[in-house]
Amino acid sequence: MSDFLSRGEYDAIAKSLSLQTKAFIGGKFVPAISGKTMATVNPATGEELTRFAACGQEDVDLAVSIARKTFESGVWSRMHPSERKKIFLRFVGLMEKHLTELAVLESLDSGKPLSECLVTDLPESIECLEWHAEYADKKYGGTSPSGDGRLGLIEREPAGVVGCVLPWNFPIQMFAWKLGPALSEGNSVIVKPASWTTLSTLRLAELAAEAGIPEGVLQIVTGGGESVGSAIGLHPGIDVVSFTGSTEVGRRFLSYSSQSNLKRIVLELGGKNPFVLLDDYTDFAEAAKWAASAAFWNMGENCTANSRIIVPEQHKDAFLEAFLEELRNNWKIGDPLDTSNNLGSMVSESHFKKVMGYIEKGKSEGCRVVTGGEALNIGSGLFIPPTVFDNVTPENTIAREEIFGPVTSIITAKSNEEAVRIANDTHYGLQATLFAKDVAMAHKYARQLQAGTVSVNMFSEGDNTTPFGGYKLSGFGGKDKGRESHDQYTETKTIFVNLD
Ligand code: NAP
Ligand code: MG
Repeated sequence: MSDFLSRGEYDAIAKSLSLQTKAFIGGKFVPAISGKTMATVNPATGEELTRFAACGQEDVDLAVSIARKTFESGVWSRMHPSERKKIFLRFVGLMEKHLTELAVLESLDSGKPLSECLVTDLPESIECLEWHAEYADKKYGGTSPSGDGRLGLIEREPAGVVGCVLPWNFPIQMFAWKLGPALSEGNSVIVKPASWTTLSTLRLAELAAEAGIPEGVLQIVTGGGESVGSAIGLHPGIDVVSFTGSTEVGRRFLSYSSQSNLKRIVLELGGKNPFVLLDDYTDFAEAAKWAASAAFWNMGENCTANSRIIVPEQHKDAFLEAFLEELRNNWKIGDPLDTSNNLGSMVSESHFKKVMGYIEKGKSEGCRVVTGGEALNIGSGLFIPPTVFDNVTPENTIAREEIFGPVTSIITAKSNEEAVRIANDTHYGLQATLFAKDVAMAHKYARQLQAGTVSVNMFSEGDNTTPFGGYKLSGFGGKDKGRESHDQYTETKTIFVNLD
């Protein structure tokens, strides 16, 4: 894109950032009560960026009591919806104003390519928050068909105090998906960002305060999952927890809830998403373009990464050729701050090792690397190039487990029916991509795919207006995005009136 700044200008922005390091509770930045801190690093260089507050149970207790008081005061929860919308939109405006700075911050803390932060993460997060802010004064309740003598009103009230526990792969976007509906509905919110990527969330809190979101409405409690995450899950003063992360940790929240106050739990979890090429689709260059972004966008650190590409046996060679051509031409990995790269670093050393472990596993099970397969030696960064395996069967480990890195597998099918069977042969069900020439075939097979989102003739998670969430082990209890996302942050109330 021609309107990127120069590398030197982005460097200057990076150097000028003042990093926020404390938790944000009751409208103030405060250290952890214990005084403990944790480091956050730039994974592309290995450099420690700063240390931030390593909070614990006592900080969560404080955040919950302030959030509860704020909620009950009505300062936000009972503010006129049009007024809430205006303040919320001011926050959105400040994000737009600080878009470049936020994008640089996000890239530094996570290893994501700055180009993507600038053109995708930030604009999409801003649009998402704007959509939910606008929705604040456009929602109606209902009346029941209860006859002449009775009036049944069905209203939605904000749930109260909401905990949002976030992953590291899209820190600002996941904040937007959850905070959009939660704040729009008038809740008070406690956010726990992932420990590898706290900085952008803290900066957003600063902007929210500047926009006039009343103190006590939004708290950011930083710290480890075992301490802050579990304290949020177990807290009797929290009404709803909306979690995005791994299936393994997600399961724990159901147990936290059952051990405490039966708070509502909404889980957005992992995926092992298929890309299905039906046998009538022969524009392999087009399919390959989308398959590459399905597999490698955000270095495959994406819950909807398509890590199983299921192709008709007779078209495998032609597809693979087009796929490799696409990767050679359009996918460039390296320094995240260099905007000519669209792939950056893995988020952390431990995650890098996990992904490399899967690559070794694929090799040891006899799958054939057709490109990639070895880490790149770029400074002290954690760079793994797009890796494609051929000769993969649905039983191989790399075809069954979520890798969460730039690794995908080519699996062949003898028929469209078999392709869909293989696609559904997984414990997950988050997203599926389907390519078909015939529209009727596309619809028929889209219905058969067991996934919360099926994108046809493109790779997509839908947009801000469409609900997003998984079937099977990919999700539980509700959806993000769209009107449906508001359900998780509200209670339905029936008011039943005697008219006789
Ligand atoms: P994760 O390890 O499950 O962590 C998610 C969050 O949970 C982090 O804030 C983490 O804190 C916290 N946590 C860790 N252990 C905890 C515990 N024992 N109790 C309470 N909280 C705990 O997931 P991740 O590695 O960050 O993210 C990758 C996963 O997220 C992948 O499986 C991916 O598919 C999924 N994901 C799903 C979606 C979706 O919308 N469906 C979107 C994005 C990602 P710390 O950071 O401090 O450990
Ligand atoms: Mg970091």
